[in-house]
Amino acid sequence: MDSHIYRCAACGGINRVPASRVNQAPTCGRCKKKLALDNAPFDVDDAALARLVAKSPVPVLVDFWAPWCAPCRAVAPHLVQLGQRKAGRMLIAKVNTQNHPKTAAALHVKAIPTLAIWKGGHVVEQQAGARMGLQLDELVDPHL
Ligand SMILES: [Zn+2]
Repeated sequence: MDSHIYRCAACGGINRVPASRVNQAPTCGRCKKKLALDNAPFDVDDAALARLVAKSPVPVLVDFWAPWCAPCRAVAPHLVQLGQRKAGRMLIAKVNTQNHPKTAAALHVKAIPTLAIWKGGHVVEQQAGARMGLQLDELVDPHL
């Protein structure tokens, strides 16, 4: 029952990998490509985000950002590292609010970056402002 969740970077498929097989170069059940295990943040639009949070078996941290936002760019590498630390236990999605404003508007996001966490199809956490390093763990750990 102890399994890890990985999103296939090639096709977007959500894969459940038994913990005992994580070190055996697991492949995607949908497209058969080798799964990347670094749990890298990935870009979604509003429709893809809705599909993702509806079906993800693990919490999804969503970074609402924009290209012109300097604090957003500062947070980005910290999200990459967070993904590595929490690989298998959560996913990290990024929404460029300049191109995809719909979900951010629905959540009344007024400042970016805003970080939100979906769990079981619902938003369980939403906070505006940049967070770095272990501040990100403090945000997500209660929901893992
Ligand atoms: Zn795939």
